[in-house]
Amino acid sequence: MAAARLLKDEATEEKGDRARMASFIGAMAIADLVKTTLGPKGMDKILQSTGRGRNVTVTNDGATILKSLHIDNPAAKVLVDISKVQDDEVGDGTTSVVVLAGELLREAEKLVNQKIHPMTIIAGYRMAAECARNALLLKAKDNKQDPDKFKSDLMKIAMTTLSSKILSQDKEHFAKLAVDAVLRLKGSTNLESIQIIKKAGGSLKDSFLDEGFVLDKKIGIGQPKRIENAKILVANTAMDTDKVKIYGARVRVDSMAKVAEIEGAEKEKMKQKVQKIIAHGINCFVNRQLIYNFPEELFADAGILAIEHADFDGIERLALVTGGEIASTFDNPESVKLGHCKLIEEIMIGEDKLIHFSGVEMGQACTVVLRGASSHVLDEAERSLHDALCVLSQTVNDSRVLLGGGWPEMVMAKEVDELARKTPGKKSHAIEAFSRSLQAIPTIIADNAGLDSAELISQLRAEHHKDTTSAGINIISGGVGDMDKLGVSESFKVKQAVLLSATEAAEMILRVDEIITCAPRKREDRM
Ligand code: ADP
Ligand code: MG
Repeated sequence: MAAARLLKDEATEEKGDRARMASFIGAMAIADLVKTTLGPKGMDKILQSTGRGRNVTVTNDGATILKSLHIDNPAAKVLVDISKVQDDEVGDGTTSVVVLAGELLREAEKLVNQKIHPMTIIAGYRMAAECARNALLLKAKDNKQDPDKFKSDLMKIAMTTLSSKILSQDKEHFAKLAVDAVLRLKGSTNLESIQIIKKAGGSLKDSFLDEGFVLDKKIGIGQPKRIENAKILVANTAMDTDKVKIYGARVRVDSMAKVAEIEGAEKEKMKQKVQKIIAHGINCFVNRQLIYNFPEELFADAGILAIEHADFDGIERLALVTGGEIASTFDNPESVKLGHCKLIEEIMIGEDKLIHFSGVEMGQACTVVLRGASSHVLDEAERSLHDALCVLSQTVNDSRVLLGGGWPEMVMAKEVDELARKTPGKKSHAIEAFSRSLQAIPTIIADNAGLDSAELISQLRAEHHKDTTSAGINIISGGVGDMDKLGVSESFKVKQAVLLSATEAAEMILRVDEIITCAPRKREDRM
């Protein structure tokens, strides 16, 4: 036995059918896991970490669910990865992509059992995907020329994205909020300039969009509460040495007077530093680190608003939106880039006081203040809003839109079916299987809403046999509905990404005929 082994030590391998089987099972298990969250009536999942604090996340977002799993199956990992990429690239369709890849593999498994070679299946899938993409391209609408129509497209896309999320009750409110925020960006996909602040309390409906930047800090006592034409120095520097605090070095003194002397010297040094900072001609100083009492007093005397201990994300964004740079030395005032804004003032959100910077240099910057009953609600609201913002910013650049509610899948399935009929040879089985996998998406959306999916899909298929149709699943009435009238739209870019990455992932897993697990490298015993 041992002589036949090629691999060293504890490395293991699985070959041929067994390896393929393990991949199929792993991938389908992942797809089944997120399947129930698909669509507007999809369920949520509770994720509980085993670490300290046993953090709980309640979510409906495919990528978030999959990201938090620890998985041992290599094929399952491929699916988790495409979901992540989908999230980063286009922001939405994270569940769809995994479900579609899972269905493609489920169909492939059946074909493999009928003795069709994986390479034949891959060739068929490739042809089918190409054909499906062309079908979508033909049907996509572009309203970029007409600003009003385009804005209404954006509203519809935002509402469709939000309809499967926690924000669905207030989806109009949030869709408007997201569209306004994205239109401010004027075509940039840099979501950095949209700040999201979460404040527990109130209800989701109380969330609002505000221009400018909000820093979650209070203005100290004795400091100016309102500054016009602010010149801001954003810094990351130590301002906490008004007491002796020497580590790693020892100072020997023979009387308390000596200590006071050293303290005095420290104080004098700090005073000089503050004066250097004031010499920049600023009226607001924001520091990432603590500012102790003594320097704070000095700043207050000079009429400068000093904000201490801003979080890192906070100061980076503040520097970005006010057009400044983070400074840490103050010897050359000319080389420090100050930030500017029209007005700094204290505002109240719920019970909390925060600092608002308005009229900032970077005009497109804005802040979304989310309100909600608990931190779990707020976290999920943030994720949902982020999805919407991401999809919208992508759609501003690529303004082609499609209808939703299973419409794109049915359109693709019909064309792919026709291709199957024209294609000779075994490949046609694979192409047919591709069409069935596409139809699984509307089937699952209907199933999740508790509808009779078999009946609905056959009706849909009949509708889609006509040349032009906008038929999809009407979740509310539980029948076939006109997606155009219902205003269910989706971005072309998202659907295309779902199609292409799901096919690629399925292909990659199908190519596997051997799984080799490497043995962990042993730590060598060192004396
Ligand atoms: P994903 O993470 O893939 O975006 P979702 O749970 O957001 O998954 O579900 C998206 C699917 O739900 C899309 O296929 C979309 O067309 C469909 N959908 C969204 N809103 C509606 C609606 N109001 N009626 C029917 N289908 C909808
Ligand atoms: Mg979605």
